Amino acid sequence: MKSWLRTAPLLDRSGWAHGWTTAAGPDFHTPPDAPDHAAAVASLSAAVGLDDAAWVRQVHGGTVLRAEGPGCLGEADALWSDRPGLGVVGRSADCPLVIVTCDSPSPRWGFAHASWRSTVAGITAELMAALKNAGTEPTACRAVIGPSAGPCCYEVGDEVREQACESLGKLAEAFFVRRGERWLLDLWRVNVAQLIAAGVPGDHVQVTGVCTICSEGYPSYRRDGAAAGRFAAMVGHA
Ligand SMILES: [Zn+2]
Repeated sequence: MKSWLRTAPLLDRSGWAHGWTTAAGPDFHTPPDAPDHAAAVASLSAAVGLDDAAWVRQVHGGTVLRAEGPGCLGEADALWSDRPGLGVVGRSADCPLVIVTCDSPSPRWGFAHASWRSTVAGITAELMAALKNAGTEPTACRAVIGPSAGPCCYEVGDEVREQACESLGKLAEAFFVRRGERWLLDLWRVNVAQLIAAGVPGDHVQVTGVCTICSEGYPSYRRDGAAAGRFAAMVGHA
């Protein structure tokens, strides 16, 4: 396995291919329609063992698309597929990438780019809804929340908490902890809650628990600013 590739034991099952890159991997910083981006995707596809991959221009919204072929498919923050050999790939520099695999009645897979805006728009819930509409059994899904800004470091202002409570209901207050004038937001728990609410069993959800801001090894926009690179996560089925 490539030294810059990480995987989750929960998703290591027959037929499945997945992984995410570290800061030492290919750079996904270039625009999604640039040739360099396609080259980075090709490196990651080869590293995880998939033929090809599809991606989107991530816009911090709540839109889910279906991938029926490779390449950049438009604006969205979640993407799913059931085409054998086709990976879906998301990019990040702090935002949680939520990887989902489903075994029943047939393999389907997807990812959500769960920035705070997308999380408040219910992107992980929307991805699960799209998979269920296609016939997927949520109890046969497994999900991993990759390295991203953790509850130790992810400070936000009042406006984020207000928008979260407006969109997700008052229960969203539980995901915020006061720190000085600001709030610490636990994006991991909000997205776990969306998976559980969609019917994914709790023991089928893994949070990697790696914070991109305070741990070494991953690009972080909060830490490195505009100079930050981007890493990526991919999932697919042979
Ligand atoms: Zn941290």
